[in-house]
Amino acid sequence: VIEIRDLHKAYGQLEVLKGVDLRAPKGNVISLIGSSGSGKSTLLRCCNLLEDSQQGEILFEGEAVHWKGTGLNRHPADKAQVLRIRTNLSMVFQQFNLWSHLTILQNVMEAPVTVLKRDPKEVEEKARHYLAKVGIADKADAWPAMLSGGQQQRAAIARALCMEPRALLFDEPTSALDPELEQEVVKVIKALAEEGRTMIIVTHDMKMANDVSDHVIFLHQGRIEEQGAPADLFGNPQTERLRGFLSATM
Ligand code: ATP
Ligand code: MG
Repeated sequence: VIEIRDLHKAYGQLEVLKGVDLRAPKGNVISLIGSSGSGKSTLLRCCNLLEDSQQGEILFEGEAVHWKGTGLNRHPADKAQVLRIRTNLSMVFQQFNLWSHLTILQNVMEAPVTVLKRDPKEVEEKARHYLAKVGIADKADAWPAMLSGGQQQRAAIARALCMEPRALLFDEPTSALDPELEQEVVKVIKALAEEGRTMIIVTHDMKMANDVSDHVIFLHQGRIEEQGAPADLFGNPQTERLRGFLSATM
């Protein structure tokens, strides 16, 4: 679904990604791990073009992103393409970012109705379906502030699902939550992995990464230091850096 080749990204003088390759084939779950500042969120945001990048290719379903300009002046050239890619790669953030003035149901319906111009009746049916799927069907008419953190994050996942994207991108979806609430969200992510959703997950939760991933990528200072199947990466890390990182986090 998504492929990235030799991606370079800088914020001014600060080089954040220094030639990263990533492939997320259909049905695969890719986890991105690494210390704070290693470039995980930046890489995720480059995938759905929330960030520009200076060099390298990004392909969505085999379709290469068209660029205009070079270096720090490189930007996507085709607005329709950006919209198509962004709506097909739904992002779930650490802070759930629900609209506080909309009910949970309205939050989930908002983008499909306003961005994708879908029929509100059909969207409502889908929204209720996805709310049931993440276990909060009974919260449809509640306001976000009335929900626990875990419920709010599950609402945010339902909102991403309601776009019916080709892939879901998660940026630390559990790290704002208390441990008990975290497990509710991990359960939903596991269920999505089991039904064959394509996902890229930035996480500090090594247990979840181990349980749900087909492939794990360890980023260090903007480069892929090590990658592989979770059993190999967690069971038999090859580099000193990954061994150090794992012993500090597990
Ligand atoms: P964390 O685990 O703390 O979330 P991360 O791996 O997600 O870290 P990024 O957020 O991708 O790291 O940041 C990588 C580097 O880019 C950091 O040095 C950060 O300070 C820098 N950076 C991120 N966003 C910006 C920005 N908008 N402007 C300037 N520098 C930025
Ligand atoms: Mg981050």
